[in-house]
Amino acid sequence: MEQLTIHAHAKINLALDVLNRRPDGYHTVRMIMQSLSLCDTLFLQKAAEPGIVLSARNPEQFPDVTWDENNLIYKAAKLFIDTCSIKNGVHITIEKQIPSAAGLAGGSSDAAATLKGMNQLFEQNLSLDELKEMGVKLGADVPYCIQLGTALSEGIGEQLTALPAAPAMYCVLVKPEAAVSTKYVYQNLKLDKAHHPNIDAALDAISTCNVNKLCANLNNILEPVARTLCPEVEDIELKLAELGALGTCMSGSGPTVFGLFTDGNDAIEASEYFLDHGYEDRTFVTKFFQPTCRY
Ligand code: ATP
Repeated sequence: MEQLTIHAHAKINLALDVLNRRPDGYHTVRMIMQSLSLCDTLFLQKAAEPGIVLSARNPEQFPDVTWDENNLIYKAAKLFIDTCSIKNGVHITIEKQIPSAAGLAGGSSDAAATLKGMNQLFEQNLSLDELKEMGVKLGADVPYCIQLGTALSEGIGEQLTALPAAPAMYCVLVKPEAAVSTKYVYQNLKLDKAHHPNIDAALDAISTCNVNKLCANLNNILEPVARTLCPEVEDIELKLAELGALGTCMSGSGPTVFGLFTDGNDAIEASEYFLDHGYEDRTFVTKFFQPTCRY
């Protein structure tokens, strides 16, 4: 194989709990992850000469992302080449859509897609578990981004349990203008005082395919901290609910907010409000994505 195209899917956290802070600074979490159809597209091409060449088709839309050796795509390609002693080089071009620093795992998903793509391109036949083991070296969410679908994520995010597919839903994503630092949010989380999400209730809602129960249990322990930096999070949630979302929540460490709908037209109508009110580059209508196979 000389070249291939692969998608890197965004994720949201349907529920996110932080259990404790480890001495090494990592947090142990319990999160329900859901992949979205919204994705970046990566084009990988084998090169005869060694080396990794990375470029973006739309870099002007992502001014905070650098396309050098600090990019997670570059790091993933290098890790794969070193681990599998590949002699060739690779040229990777990305068309990016997932907003960056948004709580949607854009970078982690690009890294995951790079590992999967390199495995196919160089016909290495590594198993899903071997790719996940490699992926965790790049970031705690990378193994999930390799697995995709609906999953329970525990430990630092690397202990994954595949769940039955969540009920098919449409999702309106709205990213506030203000940035929210992941480090700040975790450092300012007061675990003893925080209200912990009911992850078990959300898991039950998924296994019984109960949309109302799922929407009632969307909850993110990090959201109150993010709201102190970015009050827009609450404004967007209230507006999404007013526009008919069955449930709303913030994803990851924020600041992106999502609203869930069972009807695609309702989701499009809700998104139009945000598109008309200053969020034209920061509103997306997408839906839950389930991989056809877990590889
Ligand atoms: P997570 O949900 O995993 O915390 P996020 O959605 O909050 O991720 P990313 O989109 O992964 O955040 O971006 C965080 C930072 O990572 C960016 O500011 C950027 O500098 C860096 N980064 C490195 N590689 C990439 C990439 N391929 N795409 C986006 N950002 C990248």
